[in-house]
Amino acid sequence: MHEIPFEEILQNLRELIAKKVLIQTPEGLKREAQALAEFLEKNGIEVIISGDINYGACDLADKEAKMLGCDVLIHLGHSYMQLNLEVPTIFVPAFAKVDVVKVLEKNLDEIKKLGKKIALVTTVQHIRDLERAKAFLEEKGFQVFIGEGDNRVSFSGQVLGCNFTTAKVGEEVDGILFIGAGYFHPIGVALATKKPTLAINPYSGDFAWMDKEVEKIVRKRWGMIARAYDAKKFGIIISTKKGQLRLGEAKRIMKLLKEHGREAQLIAMNYISPEALDGFDFDAYVVVACPRVPIDDAERWRKPVLTPPEVKLLLGLREGYEFDEILG
Ligand code: SF4
Repeated sequence: MHEIPFEEILQNLRELIAKKVLIQTPEGLKREAQALAEFLEKNGIEVIISGDINYGACDLADKEAKMLGCDVLIHLGHSYMQLNLEVPTIFVPAFAKVDVVKVLEKNLDEIKKLGKKIALVTTVQHIRDLERAKAFLEEKGFQVFIGEGDNRVSFSGQVLGCNFTTAKVGEEVDGILFIGAGYFHPIGVALATKKPTLAINPYSGDFAWMDKEVEKIVRKRWGMIARAYDAKKFGIIISTKKGQLRLGEAKRIMKLLKEHGREAQLIAMNYISPEALDGFDFDAYVVVACPRVPIDDAERWRKPVLTPPEVKLLLGLREGYEFDEILG
């Protein structure tokens, strides 16, 4: 269950004198998008809902909004990301209605294993509860730090699947406590900080330590690097999604590969999928876009697919595994 502030959105649209809007939504908020469209139409605003899949604020439909003659884009589910946009955009992060403190209380014995000094991070869904969580933990005797992060994140303590800068709090902490669902974010946090990381899922109330998960994923990634070892021709995939476009990094990777005797070609894609690459004759790929793409569903890729830090490992230019991050 998520809260969408209908009245506040309407107020913002009136201030922007919007007559026609495009609503963009992630999979999990499609019904809320529909309800919002109905509400806005009743209030005299023409609405189009984008049916395209959306995974983040890195992929805004501002160009489509302009093409469709919309004055404003309403982006549901994710917080503000600094990008050069073609229409005014209202970001509506979805805040979960779930009691975070209750699950912290339930898992207090496990949290104690992290040590006394801890950094606290979460995804945008639970960001409003972070200060309350901090106060609760401090009451229980912990020293709690919430990192500010860089410009890619909107809130202190917020992590994205491609940015873990808030987990590096600039203090020598004993461990990191992540509040949220899924493993991708806390694995990234554990790899980025090299600290014991405990994930507490506020929906199920369960906890999970990340060391085993990190081991599992890193082992798989080394397997992927090994498969690319003899690759001669590399396709370097860049994204045409504004918040994932990293042309400079892609060129640096291309240069590195060429300096090490490999061939490399840039490929631009909007939706990156293994199937779309089928007709090409490359031995391996490097995805210089969303860092989740090469890692999620890694088994679907028929050719080895690496991240930029993995290319450096392949070429022997660095030691120790690191997640790919997009810094702001
Ligand atoms: Fe999420 Fe990937 Fe976009 Fe980062 S680049 S915000 S991980 S979808």
